[in-house]
Amino acid sequence: MQQEKIYRAELTACFGDPVDENPTGVIEEAGYEALGLNYRYLTVRVEKDRLPDAVNGARAMGFRGFNLTIPHKVAVIPLLDELTEAARLIGAVNTVVSENGKLIGENTDGKGFLTSLRENGIDPAGKTVTLLGAGGAARAVSIELALAGARQINIINRSEARGAELASSVSEKTKAAAVYLPWIRQIRIPAETDILVQCTNIGLFPDVTGKPDVDYDSLRPGMVAADVVFNRPETPFLQEAARRGLKTITGLGMLVNQAALNFRLWTDAEAPVRVMTEALAKEFGLN
Ligand code: NDP
Repeated sequence: MQQEKIYRAELTACFGDPVDENPTGVIEEAGYEALGLNYRYLTVRVEKDRLPDAVNGARAMGFRGFNLTIPHKVAVIPLLDELTEAARLIGAVNTVVSENGKLIGENTDGKGFLTSLRENGIDPAGKTVTLLGAGGAARAVSIELALAGARQINIINRSEARGAELASSVSEKTKAAAVYLPWIRQIRIPAETDILVQCTNIGLFPDVTGKPDVDYDSLRPGMVAADVVFNRPETPFLQEAARRGLKTITGLGMLVNQAALNFRLWTDAEAPVRVMTEALAKEFGLN
């Protein structure tokens, strides 16, 4: 007997504003297609004060889950039923999964970064990490690196209040020692740094020539330099680091790996990471 065809799709989405240039949908949909899953990923502009309506709408329509980007990662928390431990520690949610009608908030940004580091053969355990920035990406990256055993975390940030708050939050919530270092012009990167992570928006399209105000001669070849900015991936920051002999890691690995983690949460299937990476590379004209 012929099997009944199911036309109803499982819905996933990204809610943000601005969101027009967010490429996550390309990655997720490539994965859905590769596994023949009847899932869709919608990239939806949701204005700041409409988030409660959007979340209620997603509940009403039985979405499998959704991502949050600027400006909703913190604002979504009171609208959810539960948080994972990581999301609670980070204080922000980038991924929501619906489990039996309950909306559960998770944060996969830092885990995506960690996977990308490991794919490049780097284990943060026992390492000294220096971060530029203290916004949402820096929060997720610093907490996950600390949970993965980083020994010392230096937070360099322009605004002291945000930088100092993140350093004390990492120290309180994890076993890592974290300190705030004020961002004084052409800051020298502490010599004991093993992993230097650029977590500000600097270098993000359209400001592709932007470069953090760092004394690049304080970078030494034993360090690893990673950027969370993925569009364009070869940021001026990474170019300066590569010129000085550092190993460099672009933000593409973090982006694909956080998308792969979301994929697994929503579909219960292993993400076809190679297909998803190729789709992103094609989208950015990198292959
Ligand atoms: P936030 O707005 O939360 O934080 C921005 C950070 O950048 C703040 O620390 C801010 O400092 C700093 N900053 C901005 N401009 C400057 C400047 N001119 N000089 C010094 N510091 C500056 O943004 P997010 O943390 O959410 O995002 C940061 C970047 O991470 C974005 O480019 C985003 O695309 C990327 N990202 C990448 C992901 C990936 O998968 N690869 C995932 C998530 C984010 P201050 O506190 O002083 O304002």
